[in-house]
Amino acid sequence: MEWLHKRCPDALTSARDARGRAYVPYSGFRMGAAVVTDSGEILPGALVENVSLGLAMCAERVALFSAVATAAGKPQVLALVAKRTNKQLTFPCGACLQVALELGGHDLIVVVSDTKGKTDQARIGDLAARLPHKPN
Ligand SMILES: [Zn+2]
Repeated sequence: MEWLHKRCPDALTSARDARGRAYVPYSGFRMGAAVVTDSGEILPGALVENVSLGLAMCAERVALFSAVATAAGKPQVLALVAKRTNKQLTFPCGACLQVALELGGHDLIVVVSDTKGKTDQARIGDLAARLPHKPN
């Protein structure tokens, strides 16, 4: 498990780069994410908005879906870089937590950073304890 924490800086770097590529002409709220898998691959994701608002896709799910699409392995770390929300570090939304829980399981580490590099992390099993989950 220790290596996961060591990979968090790499994931945050990838997420920070992806944040710069976010397509956010409507909100201007740039978000970048990255997934580290058990094979060591890092998959970036960026928020992509659309004039039809409901078609926007969170950066985290772009990264998670990319891990599936490229058969990169089981997600072990999900990193997110964004500005703060109501002065708090921005964590993934409920939909992204649900998808991350499904693909990564309860021990996936969620690590978040604001634009100044202040970070926090938590096990998704603790963040999403009451969300629906696959039977063991
Ligand atoms: Zn989300």
